[in-house]
This record gives sequence, structure tokens and C-alpha cells, in this order.
Amino acid sequence: MRTRQGWIEVVSGVMFSGKSEELIRRVRRALIAGRRTQLFKSHLDDRYSGQFHISSHDGRRLEAEPVSNAAQIAERVRSETQVVAIDEAQFLDDGICEVADALADAGVRVIVAGTDMDFRAEPFGPMGPLLARAERIDKLNAICVVCGDPATRNQRLIDGDPAPAEGPTIQVGGAESYEARCRRCHEVPKRDRAQVELPLRGGGVGWEGGK
Ligand SMILES: [Zn+2]
Repeated sequence: MRTRQGWIEVVSGVMFSGKSEELIRRVRRALIAGRRTQLFKSHLDDRYSGQFHISSHDGRRLEAEPVSNAAQIAERVRSETQVVAIDEAQFLDDGICEVADALADAGVRVIVAGTDMDFRAEPFGPMGPLLARAERIDKLNAICVVCGDPATRNQRLIDGDPAPAEGPTIQVGGAESYEARCRRCHEVPKRDRAQVELPLRGGGVGWEGGK
């Protein structure tokens, strides 16, 4: 029975910041509280391939249901479910905003975890709109591998070098790796930066152009 008010809570942040651990902690507590809970995760991410499940100390066990889009979540949420947890939400489509809102309106506690910025430090998939809709937001930091400050950004590396901005946002099966870095140490080289900046410096359509 959904007698309580629903809401959306988002656990966002950089890779390696412990978002999934925090999501799992909240789900485990929901299980201890006896809440009927469903856990979904984008199957683009196969770090938990095979049987991913959460067990609480009192023996309750919850399997993660792999999904590839928001509509699958809407289809699979059971009418008696009180808590819906979604991991790796950045890989889902924008429809997840509507699904999360509808669930919260219907009295469900919706817990969403996801990387909020892509490797260029731009909003990742539906995470921006989800953060705007959420009642509660937690943004977790990692540690910058270069300087040791709190890290907020994902550094994509290809053969050990910073990857150019032109690469795809989601690289499946690539040879790239990632590091957590701070704003100062984060590098996104633009191959054609000279060509992009030249027209701006020329002043053709700048502030002066309107006079
Ligand atoms: Zn740094």
C-alpha cells in the first residue's frame, strides 16, 4: 500500500565517487524497513554482469533488473512497489524524467543514481532534468588522481592521453579508460580549436557588430 508521499532523490557525481554504493545503502535500508522495492540498472554498464543482487542482514534479497530504456522501467514497476531505485541513469533516455515524476506522483520513493557530467564536463543524458525535478540531491566527489583535491569530473584517456572533445559521449567497447579529476586538472583537448576561435576573434558578429 502506497500511503506515503512520493518523491525523487538523486545521487549524482563523478565516476569513482561511490554513487552505486550509496544507492545500495539506501536500498538496503528500504529492505530493512520492509518497503517493497525494485532495483533497475542500465545494462549498458556490465560491471555487475551476471547476478547482481542486494542482500540485507535479515535475509531479504533483491535482484537488479537490467533495462535499456525508461519505458521498460514503467512497464515493470509493480502496483504494490513503494521504492524504485535506478542505477546508471545517465545511460537512459529523457523519458526517465516523465517516468520518475509519474512514480513520485503516485506515492513512490524514486532513488536515482548517475554520473551527472560526461567526459567533456557537460550534462550527461537525462541527469540535468532529473536533478531539476528531484526533491533531494546529493552530489558526491571522488579524489583527483593528479592533485588530490576533490574530483568532480571524468577524465577520459586514450592510450594514456586526454581524449579529444569530438569523441562519442558513450563509447562502447572502446580502449579508453577514465580517471576522476578536479576542474583544474581536467583536460578536454579540441582538435579544431583554432578554426573555431578564429571567427570569434575577427569580430564580424561580435558585440561591435550591432552598432
Ligand atoms: Zn586536480
